[in-house]
Amino acid sequence: MNFDSLENSDRIKDGQGEVILTNLDELANWARANSLWPLGFGLACCAIEMMASMASNYDLERFGIFPRNSPRQSDLIIISGTVTFKMADRIKRLYEQMAEPKYVISMGSCSNCGGPYWEHGYHVVKGVDRIIPVDVYVPGCPPRPEALIGGILKLQDKIKGETLNSIKE
Ligand code: SF4
Repeated sequence: MNFDSLENSDRIKDGQGEVILTNLDELANWARANSLWPLGFGLACCAIEMMASMASNYDLERFGIFPRNSPRQSDLIIISGTVTFKMADRIKRLYEQMAEPKYVISMGSCSNCGGPYWEHGYHVVKGVDRIIPVDVYVPGCPPRPEALIGGILKLQDKIKGETLNSIKE
C-alpha cells in the first residue's frame, strides 16, 4: 500500500518498520480519494471513451476506481454524453440516491455545456450543472481516456483538501 500521498504526516522508523502519525482529516481523505466508486452514466459517444478508460489498456483500477452499477454504492457519478431534458430527472434522482460525500465529473462538451447542440438543440440541457453540482469538468468532444484520468486525478486532489467538517451532511 502506498502512503506517500500522506504529505502532512510524521514518520518514525525503527528496525522493524515505520510508524506514520497523521490527523483524521488526512487519513479519511487519503482513503476516500484512493477508493472512489463511480457510477458510469453514459449518454452518448463520450461513454465509449469512458468505457475504454475502464478497460485493460488504461486500467482505472490502478487509481482505486471500481465502477458500481448502483447509485447507493457509488460516491462518484461520471456524466458522459448528451444530457437531454428527458434524462434530466433520472440524473437528478440517481444523484440523490448516491452515498455522501459524493462527487460529479462532467465528461465532454455535451455534458459541460450542450456541446454541438448548444445553439440549436431544443432537446438538450446546456450543461449538467444545471441539474446537479459538478466538481470537475473534462473538456473534449469526446475527451480521450487520458483526459478522463486527468479529471479523476484533479478530483482526488480536491478530495485531499477537504475536512470532515466541510463535507455535506
Ligand atoms: Fe458525442 Fe461530442 Fe457530445 Fe461527447 S461531447 S457526447 S463525443 S457529441
